[in-house]
Amino acid sequence: MTITTRFAPSPTGRLHVGNIRTALHNWLWAQRNGGRFLLRIDDTDAERSEERFVEAIHADLAWLGLAPDAVVRQSERFALYQRRFDALVEAGRLYPAYESAQELDLKRKILLGRGLPPVYDRAALRLTGAERAALEAQGTHPHWRFRLDHDAPLAWDDLVRGPQSFDPATMSDPVVRRADGSWLYMLPSVIDDIDMGVTHVVRGEDHVSNTALQLQMFAALDAPAPAFAHAALLTGAEGKLSKRLGSLGVDHFRGSGIEPQAVRALLARIGTSDPVEPLVEAAPLVAGFDFSRFGRAPARFDEAELAQLNARIVHQLDVATVADRLPAGMDEAAWNAVRPNLSTVAEAAGWWQVIEGPVSPPEPDAEDRAFLTEAASLAATLDWGADPWHALTGALKAATGRKGKPLFLPLRRALTGMDHGPDMAALLPLIGRERAVARLGG
Ligand code: GLU
Repeated sequence: MTITTRFAPSPTGRLHVGNIRTALHNWLWAQRNGGRFLLRIDDTDAERSEERFVEAIHADLAWLGLAPDAVVRQSERFALYQRRFDALVEAGRLYPAYESAQELDLKRKILLGRGLPPVYDRAALRLTGAERAALEAQGTHPHWRFRLDHDAPLAWDDLVRGPQSFDPATMSDPVVRRADGSWLYMLPSVIDDIDMGVTHVVRGEDHVSNTALQLQMFAALDAPAPAFAHAALLTGAEGKLSKRLGSLGVDHFRGSGIEPQAVRALLARIGTSDPVEPLVEAAPLVAGFDFSRFGRAPARFDEAELAQLNARIVHQLDVATVADRLPAGMDEAAWNAVRPNLSTVAEAAGWWQVIEGPVSPPEPDAEDRAFLTEAASLAATLDWGADPWHALTGALKAATGRKGKPLFLPLRRALTGMDHGPDMAALLPLIGRERAVARLGG
């Protein structure tokens, strides 16, 4: 049996950090098991689904490095849903119901007013054939409900949450199809999971009660249920469910200079008992991924933690990975020299500017001016070699007796215009003798 997972977004908006985490979990589990990771576009809702969001889902997954092994679209599968629907009607598991939204709302309010759970009363099941015919004759089209078997327990061993059970008698028979014939999420999802050979349904815990209902749909369709893993939801840094999380997606991360590797490294580990580590490669994330590592408490997503992790990822990226984002002319030596000082790849351009010049250092005092003049003449004549910084500072130390900060800081300021920055031993060969002599005032 090939382990098969699926990520099933509805193309009604951009993916946000919560969806991205679900996609990643599905991808990691498939990779871990040498299995398949499928993308299912849940676009049964023609009004709310948009093609631009379908395209964005593809682009976002590609940026994250989560390539699906196959893609299916629910909007192309209505014939299959109809066949299964007909069979379930035939078997008496789907029944027509004629209540309007207002009637249903009133029923709910009455039950709630009496302190009872707002469970659908199955009035539609008690309609006689004549009553149904009369309603149809008036032009009332039914919506369709799935009849739960109140005697079949709803239980499963969740890979994250452990044993789960629900009493079907406390749940409303779910509506699976609207009066206009359009599909709600519940039944097509089960039909597809069966048809696509999905072995593991990995999603957020907001779907736990759907799972309870869907278990009976698998049984009604004579299929074994897949395994389920419901991860605890994400919260913001302040520990609360945060609206902001809903607006954080790939565009935002990209725009803030966050690398896909950082997003992956963070989202693979938050909410688990494993530490968040700056892992550039996916392999160690895949190897250590297991639902048994997941906790039940919400996972905290902290943008500041992501930014820190990102810096540690950037420090490891090789030039080939970032070449198309570097300024023209910036080569491997320059990238390697500035990389340890970056929080984002984009910041490399600032250091390239420092290397290329011009730089505008603060005016040195008279004593430092004399020191720099001496440095300029030494720089003009010394054996530049592979390590001019040590050659220059060694010679200056011997000539002036300066050491430590008074030796290094005036040089760094004159050469870069700054008090801090990349290792001068790496920068100076890139600045080169000619520019260095000029900057030192020679
Ligand atoms: N389209 C559903 C959603 O985005 C899919 C849920 C599922 O994974 O079954 O919530």
